[in-house]
Amino acid sequence: MKEHESLRQLLPLAAAGVLGEEEQLRVERHARECDNCRHGLETWRALSRDLRRLPQPVVPARLVELTRVRVLQERTVAETRHQDELLLVCLALFSGISSSAVWYLLRLLFGSGLSVLGVDILSWTTWLAGSTVLVWASAAAAAVALGNRHRELRRALL
Ligand SMILES: [Zn+2]
Repeated sequence: MKEHESLRQLLPLAAAGVLGEEEQLRVERHARECDNCRHGLETWRALSRDLRRLPQPVVPARLVELTRVRVLQERTVAETRHQDELLLVCLALFSGISSSAVWYLLRLLFGSGLSVLGVDILSWTTWLAGSTVLVWASAAAAAVALGNRHRELRRALL
């Protein structure tokens, strides 16, 4: 009974011939023994045959070409976005490394005390806070510039 319920749900797929070989055989074996499923399978096969006889819609060649171009455009936009994200990550890494190098050089030149407006800018915490603010501001500016570029690219492609 349990197999009857589970195989009964597969009858439309079996009639359409889209099941795997093993499942198809299971359904057909069960249908030979179960009147209810055999009748269901015959009904679904008749429906499937009738559906295949209906005229198939013809897709206009222009629609196919437009869809193909659109897919290529979307792929181009996605690849450009990926490259831009990679560029942003590289810029952030470069910025962090160069900031650390400048801090290290200034420490070598001036020792530990370089005061600007009463703030020791070579202290580790002050430098980190300042460079973090600069990195985030640069990243925001780059993100805005890249966003504008994406909008222009989309406009050009559409
Ligand atoms: Zn059955």
